[in-house]
Amino acid sequence: MHYLSTRGYAASSDSSVQFSEILLGGLAPDGGLFLPKQYPQVSLAELDRWRTLSYAELAFEVLRKFATDIPESDLRTITSKTYTAEVYKNARPDEASEAITPLRVLFERDGKKMIIQALSNGPTLAFKDMAMQLLGNLFEYALAKTHAELNIFGATSGDTGSAAEYAMRGKQGIRVFMLSPHQKMSAFQTAQMFSLQDQNIFNIAVTGVFDDCQDMVKAVSNDLEFKNRHKIGTVNSINWARVVAQVVYYFRGYLSATTNNDQRVSFTVPSGNFGNICAGHIARMMGLPIAQLVVATNENDVLDEFFRTGIYRVRKSAETYHTTSPSMDISKASNFERFIFDLLDGDTQRVKALFQKVETSGGFDLSGGPGSDGDEFKKIAQFGFVSGKSVHIDRLKTIQDVQRDYGITIDTHTADGIKVALEHLQENIPMLVLETALPAKFNETIREALGRDAERPVGFENIETLPQRFEVMAPDVDTIKAWIAKQTNL
Ligand SMILES: *Cc1c(COP(=O)(O)O)cnc(C)c1O
Repeated sequence: MHYLSTRGYAASSDSSVQFSEILLGGLAPDGGLFLPKQYPQVSLAELDRWRTLSYAELAFEVLRKFATDIPESDLRTITSKTYTAEVYKNARPDEASEAITPLRVLFERDGKKMIIQALSNGPTLAFKDMAMQLLGNLFEYALAKTHAELNIFGATSGDTGSAAEYAMRGKQGIRVFMLSPHQKMSAFQTAQMFSLQDQNIFNIAVTGVFDDCQDMVKAVSNDLEFKNRHKIGTVNSINWARVVAQVVYYFRGYLSATTNNDQRVSFTVPSGNFGNICAGHIARMMGLPIAQLVVATNENDVLDEFFRTGIYRVRKSAETYHTTSPSMDISKASNFERFIFDLLDGDTQRVKALFQKVETSGGFDLSGGPGSDGDEFKKIAQFGFVSGKSVHIDRLKTIQDVQRDYGITIDTHTADGIKVALEHLQENIPMLVLETALPAKFNETIREALGRDAERPVGFENIETLPQRFEVMAPDVDTIKAWIAKQTNL
């Protein structure tokens, strides 16, 4: 399996980039995102054979199609160590942990069926664990082979940082330096990260806001000499291995919700950076019988706008709202370029021009209207994409409705998904809504909706009282550089 950049790097037939080479990196050298030169296909016979596999075995079957340069026996060891009931143990009491991503039917009436697929039973109670846990094991494996080290440096306002830390804790050859805004995360999220006592995890509370943290990460990333000397890397949502790991649960969800391959299902995905639903798009391109891919956004509706109009208009920081589904508060969807590449039939010149236009003019227009950059919006339906939007009052109402009618508490992001899914239900096509977090993580809004606290999984009862280990630091680039240099002994 060979990879190319959405902007043309390694596109020629004699150049060869493989999975292991892009595993530890971020953007392609030309600023694009890596994609396989061709999506591997899954035959219906193969799909049938996969019906009886465990999650770990299924993950192996999907991954081996993309990671062709990792020996199969190694890959099998890595997937079976990652997807265990022990790692994904935070299932609700009546769910089976062994299923890893258990399904729960909410209702079935008039031929319409709504199902929740739980993706948030991992260590940090959000779907990012699904991919990050695999990444931790893949990184450790790849670094051990080359006797190399990696220092992961990032900024977080919540879910990504904790998922990265729980995936990398105790891993040989890896350190994590994670910036977060001092006293700005919820008590639960802070406790999750800061209570880690592992010697390779460094939490840095920056006396500023999230943007200050991100600016520090950018400044360090732009200092190539420092970056190379200290082996700095990232684990952001454009990482290709993360996307591939997410492809697996679309197959799992489909296979669990159907009995034969003549059936189709749809998925609704609470979306921010377009990483999760991009994996659904790839599963569909591989031949998985998906009818619709429903993009659900919150008040930050840049993606909903595109899928309704063909106009992609990124927002400025001042136009990016802080919402009660905060992990979807994005102004620019970092994985979106991967879908645009497919929408434009792999025309790397045009992809490059459009995303340069995003930088210079804040967006592009594929509506086919006067002065637009193209008319590919008319092809959107061919890819199954539709969209919708949910705002704070919808979120509260959905949390209340689902609690009353089905007796389960859902988190705010999943509530956005369910609200939008209801607008796109089709007869005889089960709708799977991806549950992207457990409600305990966003308890403030659960209290607002239900007047009581969300239940916490076993082991999280007193997390706020555990001893915390973190460093407070001013938002200053030289200070953080000096500190990283000291910790890495270079
Ligand atoms: C990250 C996240 C999302 C958004 O996922 P994308 O891949 O960025 O689209 C949705 N819900 C939760 C809880 C998340 O942590």
